[in-house]
Amino acid sequence: EKFKDGLTKTRDNFSNRVNDLVARYRKIDEDFFEELEEILIQADVGFETVMELVEELKLEVKRQNMQDPKDVQSVISEKLVEIYQSGEEAPNELNMQEDGLTVILFVGVNGVGKTTTIGKLAHQFKSEGKKVVMAAGDTFRAGAIEQLEVWGERVGVDVIKQGAGSDPAAVMFDAIQSARARKADVLLCDTAGRLQNKVNLMNELEKVKRVIEREIPGAPHEVLLVLDATTGQNAMIQAKTFKDATNVTGIVLTKLDGTAKGGIVLAIRNELHIPVKFVGLGERMDDLQQFDAEKYVYGLFS
Ligand code: GDP
Repeated sequence: EKFKDGLTKTRDNFSNRVNDLVARYRKIDEDFFEELEEILIQADVGFETVMELVEELKLEVKRQNMQDPKDVQSVISEKLVEIYQSGEEAPNELNMQEDGLTVILFVGVNGVGKTTTIGKLAHQFKSEGKKVVMAAGDTFRAGAIEQLEVWGERVGVDVIKQGAGSDPAAVMFDAIQSARARKADVLLCDTAGRLQNKVNLMNELEKVKRVIEREIPGAPHEVLLVLDATTGQNAMIQAKTFKDATNVTGIVLTKLDGTAKGGIVLAIRNELHIPVKFVGLGERMDDLQQFDAEKYVYGLFS
């Protein structure tokens, strides 16, 4: 029901337009599909994904010999879920270690909601009874450390930090030692989000990762890229850049509540082949949901 509430804008833009479309047409023809394509593209489903989806729909219409546009509607939901789920196993599960420390690295440009997501996730883990530590690895942006500390206080989790401008890799080293000393289950690591210089970004992320890997073989266990859903195609470009720079294992798509273009979830999955693990549906502590394609798509149409 969280999904339903958070998706109000997308539902108004997308589902209501699909409803209107199937109500207006008497038969399923080329014009019908063209209008449907338009609606999907405007919801940021992504060009390639739209083409694939409409092809599939046309085949299904033929296969079932459908005549009534209203019958197409349920097939749309089914195909959306199918496209999302194709060829993946347990995509929304985090790779959590049963024994010892799980290290999760968060990457993404400034303002996408990285700090907020780390705070929300810390809260979730804590309410599951896990011991959490956060690492203030964004030593570059003014205020980033304080902002993480605010979340730390809010959810009752320790933040390991050094001064502004210090070496993020040194912060990570410290954070791992502190997490171990506290016998923590999860270490959530913030990183700097400048994208102006791709080489710097890559070098810094690699350095941070190397320190983590050296301390804990197999870590980081997740590298989560945080993207702002309201930025549409810009988010896709960021995703491609980060995918080139580092081994992204999952995506957190924030601010879905603030956009009518929730179709971006499908574009990301289908065009980048990175699973969306969480979605942000608001600014509060508990406004983070594990992504579930079925709940998501059916939430759009219910
Ligand atoms: P960072 O620079 O990437 O660390 O971004 P912040 O965590 O500071 O978030 C930037 C702004 O986006 C803040 O005002 C957050 O409250 C807001 N924000 C983050 N996630 C969400 C979300 O899922 N929904 C909404 N509506 N706002 C969000």
